[in-house]
Amino acid sequence: MTGTRIDLHTHSSVSDGTDAPAEVIGYAHAAGVNVLALTDHDTVAGIAEAAGALPPGLTLVPGMELSCAYRGASVHLAAYLFDAEAPELAGELRRIRDDRVERAREMVRRLREAGLEVTWDRVREIAFGGADGAGDGAREAGVVIGRPHIARAIVEAGGAADVQDAFDRWIGSGGPGYVARYALDPVRAVEAVRAAGGVCALAHPARAEGMLTGAVPEDLVERMARAGLGAVEADHPDHDEAEAGHWRGVARDLGLAVTGSSDDHGELTGHRIGARTTAPEEFERLTAPATGARPITSG
Ligand code: AMP
Ligand code: MN
Ligand code: MN
Ligand code: MN
Repeated sequence: MTGTRIDLHTHSSVSDGTDAPAEVIGYAHAAGVNVLALTDHDTVAGIAEAAGALPPGLTLVPGMELSCAYRGASVHLAAYLFDAEAPELAGELRRIRDDRVERAREMVRRLREAGLEVTWDRVREIAFGGADGAGDGAREAGVVIGRPHIARAIVEAGGAADVQDAFDRWIGSGGPGYVARYALDPVRAVEAVRAAGGVCALAHPARAEGMLTGAVPEDLVERMARAGLGAVEADHPDHDEAEAGHWRGVARDLGLAVTGSSDDHGELTGHRIGARTTAPEEFERLTAPATGARPITSG
């Protein structure tokens, strides 16, 4: 299939993207993407809406992005085609989402203590939509609250010039408003996704927040590979050419597939679906072992 454009990492408003799942599908179609994975943080709550909006010629790969904790740093895993109802994985996702709510409340408390006029109600509105206090119901609905929502509230309150500035000043790892949250160990996360019939890729390995070198340590990647990691996302808009080349080499040495993705967050990242893509043969290689779910097409 020449001309196939595959983007395996995108976000919607179900987590910290700015577009509804159906809108993400519209942007993907407009960008000429034929295979799109929706990978909201810690949730598949957007998949049904995205599936309902599929035009002919666009295939949806159900997925999510898991932020894992490793030695105080954050290692991200893109997971695909798993059974979201598998008991261990479903239990972990519920625990992660619930802790995200508690953590966001604590972050708001610290920011207010520091003098910012950020309110929990406003953060909740930005994250969960509407002013009808859908917040607690949203836990059950699987909608996920994240720091970009808090960052937008900080900007509105005049505490930062933009979202990036809010991370730099307030809520980046180690900042005055930063609070850690419950997260899986990366090797356990790979095992849990594989146990649920899914496959996974190490997301943007050159950008691991909180890691001294900025990158995921290669001995960890080896351990993740032994646990069943299928790919390395070497091509990512935040990677420069040297980093992309380096991580392609790491993937090759470990016998893993190479993926490329946009990690689009809508307005937050400047609408960049399709900005990086995955070769069809790499996609086949990554997804061949998946048994937990199937790619979805229209009709
Ligand atoms: P959380 O999962 O709530 O800890 O938030 C992490 C998310 O914040 C990431 O997935 C990115 O979308 C976003 N993010 C992390 N660091 C930055 C940064 N320095 N500037 C802007 N967005 C960021
Ligand atoms: Mn994000
Ligand atoms: Mn990420
Ligand atoms: Mn992402």
